[in-house]
Amino acid sequence: MDEARFVEFLKERFPFSHGIGIGDDASVVKIGDDYQLITKDLLIENVHFSLDYYTLEEVALKSIAVNLSDIAAMGGKSQYFYLGLGFPKLLGEEANIDFFNALEKGCRQWQVELAGGDFSSAAHLYISITMIGRAKKPIYRHNAQAGDLIGITGVTGESAIGLMLLKKGIHAGPLMEKHKTVVPEIIKGPILANYVNAMIDVSDGLLIDLKRVLTASGKGAKIFYENIPVTKEMQETCSLHQLDEHEPVLAGGEDYVLLFTIAPEKEKELRKEHIDYYIIGEITPQPGELIILDKGKLIQPRTNGYDHFRS
Ligand SMILES: [Mg+2]
Repeated sequence: MDEARFVEFLKERFPFSHGIGIGDDASVVKIGDDYQLITKDLLIENVHFSLDYYTLEEVALKSIAVNLSDIAAMGGKSQYFYLGLGFPKLLGEEANIDFFNALEKGCRQWQVELAGGDFSSAAHLYISITMIGRAKKPIYRHNAQAGDLIGITGVTGESAIGLMLLKKGIHAGPLMEKHKTVVPEIIKGPILANYVNAMIDVSDGLLIDLKRVLTASGKGAKIFYENIPVTKEMQETCSLHQLDEHEPVLAGGEDYVLLFTIAPEKEKELRKEHIDYYIIGEITPQPGELIILDKGKLIQPRTNGYDHFRS
């Protein structure tokens, strides 16, 4: 079973009567005039990261950042979180203090608060954060409209190339930093919420996350590859290591940029906000259709991205 089908199975098995449950970046429950958003992410040592190339500070900050990204993808603002922590005794007490120092740094940096949690010793480092946020108007994946423009808020692929180099034992360099240091779009998310029809954060790869929007919305898409930003650093790293740039750009994971769909007239209004984004394609009416053109030439990526159930 792939992840999409597993999510469908869970949605069916666990109906949610309080609002919108399983299947988006966060659950949504109306409270007063606002909507409460709740999301949860897991980071497990040797599955999601290795302490061979991550410091405890980097892991702690990333564990908050990935959750902030999910709340931002719903157009919301994160407020506070609960921490489930399994911490190996082997790492020692000082490491434990380092971890919480870093967590506190993250709280200050992103203005979120730790509200509670649970703690245990464990064989491997295990971090599970449940983040609570709020939105005036949540943005879902399922509302993309035919004719919408598709936008992304930043570069994709750098993180995947960074990870590949880290795994090869190359530990220093800008792309490795991009992989380890997640910069969640906490400013852009709530701004975009005033304009867009659908939104998701790109955590598993541009195409796989776009497909999630298309499936949820019952639509298709046409992507213009040449409109996707590719940095000079990426081009140089790709040619140095003889990599095809298309794959990390389209299918590399952990970029944590926002992908959104927006009506063309709203996009004109959005320009006045002066935030950086790139229009990379458009939504088509045909469900499941995905056409990728590079300067008019059809391209067929080898993979769509990271599926947690297939790898
Ligand atoms: Mg997400």
